[in-house]
Amino acid sequence: MNTRYQCLACGAPIPLDDINVATDVALCRACGRTSAFSLLQAAVDTASSMGEPPRGIRIERDFMGGGTTLTYKRMQPFVWILIPFTLIWSGGSMGGIYGTQILKRAFDWKMSLFGLPFLFGTVVLLTVILLGLFGKRRITLQHGSGSVFHGIGRLGRTRRFTYSRDARVSFRKATMQRNNVPTEEIVVTGAGSTFALCATLPDEPKRFVAGWLQREIARGS
Ligand SMILES: [Zn+2]
Repeated sequence: MNTRYQCLACGAPIPLDDINVATDVALCRACGRTSAFSLLQAAVDTASSMGEPPRGIRIERDFMGGGTTLTYKRMQPFVWILIPFTLIWSGGSMGGIYGTQILKRAFDWKMSLFGLPFLFGTVVLLTVILLGLFGKRRITLQHGSGSVFHGIGRLGRTRRFTYSRDARVSFRKATMQRNNVPTEEIVVTGAGSTFALCATLPDEPKRFVAGWLQREIARGS
């Protein structure tokens, strides 16, 4: 029987009989390992386009150090909705609460206290907008230690994780939601450790990143 699904660990073909779509499990009888079926599918989807990643993704290989880096940088379309919203919401609340105080040159602590949540919301909104406009994600894999950076320029947050060569990459439902739909995050599962990443990435680059992670980890990057 001809199948297009391959074991992510050893590359052996996996017949459809050994795939349970409902439980998202695929069993490889050649090596005895199981993989998430959704990931096999992601691997198939990205395998053909591995030479040309989705827009915004750049892959660099460090031949000296033996590591590899994936950078995702692309303006997120949601900022064009968020910018006018923030102008109205923050402009209105900030102007009304703090602007009037500045104009009157009179400090009103009750009003200022009342405005703190709006101030906090404005800071969050501006951060999200800036990340959507100029933010980048950089995932680095090097000999069992990985890092994920998300930020602007050099300003941002880096999270680190470790992995072994037999670590598995799969998808799971993230706790955060987008438009009331739970998003999926990528998880790297190794011996006793689980690391989740990329929950907020759009679907297409997310699937590519998952396929890339599994391939690079399996080949020993
Ligand atoms: Zn296998």
